[in-house]
Amino acid sequence: MFFKARRYQFCPSCGAPCVYQVPADDNRERATCTRCGTIHYENPINVVGTLPVWGEGPDGQVLLCKRAIEPRYGLWTLPAGFLELGETAIEGAKRETDEEAGAQVEMQELYCLLNVVSVGQIHLFYRARLLSPEFDPGPETLEARLFHEHEVPWDQIAFRTVRQTLQHFFEDRRLQRPYSLHSGDIV
Ligand code: ZN
Repeated sequence: MFFKARRYQFCPSCGAPCVYQVPADDNRERATCTRCGTIHYENPINVVGTLPVWGEGPDGQVLLCKRAIEPRYGLWTLPAGFLELGETAIEGAKRETDEEAGAQVEMQELYCLLNVVSVGQIHLFYRARLLSPEFDPGPETLEARLFHEHEVPWDQIAFRTVRQTLQHFFEDRRLQRPYSLHSGDIV
């Protein structure tokens, strides 16, 4: 299960093959270079994104982006991507929303925290209020558009974390629950 999340086949320092073994004084396997001996530690990666909404109440629409890149080319996603060094989670989510959709948003609260242990990632989605229904998709996006709940292409959603975030949103909205944090695991 954890193997998919491992990233080092070769040493980034010297290019020699790495093996996974337990270093002295450690308790789990680490990528260890067979030549220079460097131990490369790996930790989960943060994926940050937004759930951008245009309009209020049951008629509000959500923004989805059709992916122009692999993986999941041609499928729909919420704007999201890898958190960069030097930015906070909320800054990264806003940046991805601008880069992928060219959408201007007012950031709101953190809404979903989903652990994807099998691939070594944590996905964080913030709610966001769209300031305009005009978009300017970047090179990673074929199309950015708004969807009413009944229009969401559920069988063409790129990632399970996106599906789950959308499901939580529509359910909370239907039941008129306050939007508070959902956290869970994707297994
Ligand atoms: Zn090395």
